[in-house]
Amino acid sequence: MTKKEYKVTNDKLIWKMSAKNPPVLRVEPGSVIEFETRDCFGSQKLTPGDGPIAFDPNMAGNPATGPVYVEGAMPGDVLKVKILEITPTSAAVMGMDKTMGVFMHETEIDALRIFDVHGGKTFFGDKYPVPNKPMLGVIGIAPEEGTEIPNMTPGTHGGNMDCKRIIAGSTLYLPVHAEGALLAVGDVHAVMGDGEVAGGGAEVAARVRVQVSVIKDEDMEGPMLLSEGYAMAIVSAEKLDTAAEEATKAMKRFIQKKFKIEHWEACMLLSLVGDLRICQIVDPLRTCRMEVPMEVFQAYGYSFE
Ligand code: CA
Ligand code: ZN
Repeated sequence: MTKKEYKVTNDKLIWKMSAKNPPVLRVEPGSVIEFETRDCFGSQKLTPGDGPIAFDPNMAGNPATGPVYVEGAMPGDVLKVKILEITPTSAAVMGMDKTMGVFMHETEIDALRIFDVHGGKTFFGDKYPVPNKPMLGVIGIAPEEGTEIPNMTPGTHGGNMDCKRIIAGSTLYLPVHAEGALLAVGDVHAVMGDGEVAGGGAEVAARVRVQVSVIKDEDMEGPMLLSEGYAMAIVSAEKLDTAAEEATKAMKRFIQKKFKIEHWEACMLLSLVGDLRICQIVDPLRTCRMEVPMEVFQAYGYSFE
């Protein structure tokens, strides 16, 4: 079977994930799709003295390119998305204001800065040009029919997970909620730390290439990611504590079922080898991930499709 390649340009944008969004493209499983993405502010023309006030609010808010209908993807299936490439194609914008981030109550002025991105670095300053590690902030599919989720919000449909492990070479699994899955991506960061503490990463426009496929008999409750030698369950909740506990419990249920082990064994194994990490603490819901080294999955004889 020849693998087809498609492209979606950055004028095909959505701000909410919804089964009602009309697909801009239909692809067969196995296809490669190139998405042109805008930065999280919509790639508006800005200059360093502008505050976030200068933004057109209709354009900001994590516009995602898509959605793409994947033939054969039905509720109950799992959409597998291999991330092939994430290449920044603009300078990086960072904004800080009173509405989000750990420092929102200390922020006296709205700050907006633009940094050069080239040679694999984000030129934050001369002291420490920050090495890039481009990641997808928003990658999601439609939630159940009758609900719509703004692109600022993460959930079981993916969305604004802001997980720094969603990089080229990683594979994301998303349980399908609506026919065709309706995949959309955006909000690329040239680099971001766990937590996304000031409310943003190095926000860039980008070229993103992914390969999609559909897994028929896999039961996953929410996003699972394979990246950098780990498998992880990603969970979002209103409170960080809840997100942390629920990510842990989601991974525990997964390994207990897949490894065919008992409750106590799954719990203790996670306590020994699982790393609980924060993705972000600044979005409308907080996101955590529970990571388990791939060699543990190999030892227990489970391989991801
Ligand atoms: Ca984001
Ligand atoms: Zn972002």
